[in-house]
Amino acid sequence: MKKLSILGSTGSIGVSTLEIVAAHPDRFEVVAITAGNNIELLARQIAAFRPRLVAVLNSELAGRLKMLLPGGCQPEIMCGVEGLIAAATHADAEMVVAAIVGAAGLVPTMAAIHAGKDLALANKETLVTAGHLVMEAVAAKGIKLYPVDSEHSAVFQSIEGHRGEDIEKIILTASGGPFLNTPAAKLAEVTVADALNHPNWSMGKKITIDSASMMNKGLEVIEARWLFDVPPEKIDVNIHPQSIIHSMVEYVDGCVIAQLGTPDMKAPIAYALSYPERVSTGVKPLDLTAFSGLTFFRPDLEKFRCLKLAYQAMAAGESMPAVMNAANEIAVESFLDGRIRFLDISAVIERTMSLHQPHSLGTIEEVLGVDRWAREKTREQLQAVNRKS
Ligand code: NAD
Ligand code: MG
Repeated sequence: MKKLSILGSTGSIGVSTLEIVAAHPDRFEVVAITAGNNIELLARQIAAFRPRLVAVLNSELAGRLKMLLPGGCQPEIMCGVEGLIAAATHADAEMVVAAIVGAAGLVPTMAAIHAGKDLALANKETLVTAGHLVMEAVAAKGIKLYPVDSEHSAVFQSIEGHRGEDIEKIILTASGGPFLNTPAAKLAEVTVADALNHPNWSMGKKITIDSASMMNKGLEVIEARWLFDVPPEKIDVNIHPQSIIHSMVEYVDGCVIAQLGTPDMKAPIAYALSYPERVSTGVKPLDLTAFSGLTFFRPDLEKFRCLKLAYQAMAAGESMPAVMNAANEIAVESFLDGRIRFLDISAVIERTMSLHQPHSLGTIEEVLGVDRWAREKTREQLQAVNRKS
């Protein structure tokens, strides 16, 4: 029986994780869960999975949550960062599923590593902002880090049994999102609803917008750089609109190993939870004969400026990816709130990056400092954008 703590249980990844747990009650047990605002769903999850500890954003939500729970079901309820850390380090948890969205996941994920917990990592922003510190801590504590992101799970599955020095290239696939066939000139007019209309994947709002702008693929290139310890020039992106090949690894002998499957996050989540075993997931079996063809082509970095910015941030290194990530989080939030237009996202990120002189980040506190700086600079610009429109 593997005991899990799930950070972000009410999100898209969190809910899929609990579906896997529910399908395998003989294998997995939930000891702690955390959520942001959705306490109605959280209350139902508590009733179904009976965790010992629950954490929410603040004391007001904690109070409301208590009222929603039946008398016989009263786990310990904590709040704020303290609650997240308590869940991430719970004495009974063997594995932490890091499924909070954004840089907010960094502190609890690091706490889990320091407490010696194995990690199923969905929260890519953790590696984008502080990849070197996270990987150093993972090595120092000797914990296991299993990727949940579908592309990284595919790479993880494609490198098993191979030597790192034999890798020629990692090829991450990208669906291209809802605007793959939208002419660049039309991107200025797209709406929030258009951007949320992803063709292949059902996900949280932030990552869905990141997929539309292709910032998601940029974040994933940086994520891959840290997870698999490969230099940036060995990571390529191929657009593959069918999302059937989830990523590939090319070796020095010219052989390429890929992982395929119906696009459903339950598959990579289950593999992270049950590695090295495989468990049933309910994912629809892949029928390649149903496709008239699988296609691949290079991304247009001028149309998808965010992907280009991510390559630039990775090349600049040090604090630049954290600055880019924070600027993106603020820009995406403003786009979702209808305060800026789609193309403003890349424009404000670029401007915030241009204001930043990259420097080394030796501690998580320094990462958080640069994250705060970038958020502030981006908000200042957004005020200027709003004044103009
Ligand atoms: P989501 O928005 O659906 O869920 C996020 C979860 O985190 C929710 O439980 C929310 O309540 C919680 N949360 C949000 N802000 C918080 C904060 N400040 N403090 C504490 N909790 C907070 O997001 P998602 O789509 O499930 O994505 C989660 C992470 O997994 C992201 O980093 C995303 O990039 C990554 N990921 C998601 C998918 C996917 O298919 N959804 C695929 C690959 C990677
Ligand atoms: Mg992905």
